[in-house]
Amino acid sequence: MRLKNTVAIVTGASSGIGQAIAIRFAREGAAVVVDYVGDADTPAATEMQIASFGGRSIAVAADVSKPEEAQNLIDRAVAAFGRLDIVVNNAGIEKKCDFVDYPLDEWQKILAVNLVGPFLVSQAAARQMIVQGQGGRLINISSVHEDLPMPTNSAYCSSKGGLRMLMRTIAVELAKHRITVNNIGPGAVFTPIDADVEAKPEMEKALMAEIPLNRWGKPEEIAGLAVFLASDEAAYITGSTYFIDGGMLRQSGSY
Ligand code: NAD
Repeated sequence: MRLKNTVAIVTGASSGIGQAIAIRFAREGAAVVVDYVGDADTPAATEMQIASFGGRSIAVAADVSKPEEAQNLIDRAVAAFGRLDIVVNNAGIEKKCDFVDYPLDEWQKILAVNLVGPFLVSQAAARQMIVQGQGGRLINISSVHEDLPMPTNSAYCSSKGGLRMLMRTIAVELAKHRITVNNIGPGAVFTPIDADVEAKPEMEKALMAEIPLNRWGKPEEIAGLAVFLASDEAAYITGSTYFIDGGMLRQSGSY
């Protein structure tokens, strides 16, 4: 068990990549706080799977874009499990729209969840980790689009590009507290966020042609990298993005 005696928060852990990370962390011995948004969102499936192998978790409803809810997430983790060691900022949303037509309120909402959220949760978490004095791990689920432009996805790409520089900047600031900060940059992973692509075979075919390994990634594959970055083995790794994209960022378009 690589995360024994640790306490981890995973945001947006009711589905997709966050769910896979929460389950895998619990399998590795971490006590896991399963964050979800509430109302239409339910953490039940994640909690049930963790309980099925005797893992420890609590579910907390917190919209990461709201300061008081982000703080409450950290407070609930500490109240339940006594400390906080690992945060995975996974919650994210996406909306595609031509740049010239992009509605301001939608643009701001995406920035609020994908960038302000990790700022709020990481800030509250770092304050707790500094008080504990034993270091910590902040891991953001970014995207290949922290680097790669995607037409019609200006808000999402901007949020992930911002997340890259938030990560790099606070990695330097927090190093003296032995808190490491890294990004995971997935390519195309088969989850609900890609429902628009999955529903259109021609779009899916075009996407696969951009991926040298020629398939979707699996949420469990992202979880494997997250476990490594959260573990003691990654103690000397900070300030970088680790892409996991089937070679998408390296494809030349001519082969
Ligand atoms: P998903 O839609 O299954 O998961 C997103 C989760 O975030 C959901 O559980 C949702 O309820 C939660 N969420 C949304 N708004 C929230 C808020 N305000 N507060 C808390 N939680 C909130 O999709 P996913 O693919 O698992 O996405 C997870 C992360 O991975 C996202 O940050 C996404 O940008 C990133 N990512 C996904 C892919 C992919 O191809 N699936 C690729 C690159 C990056």
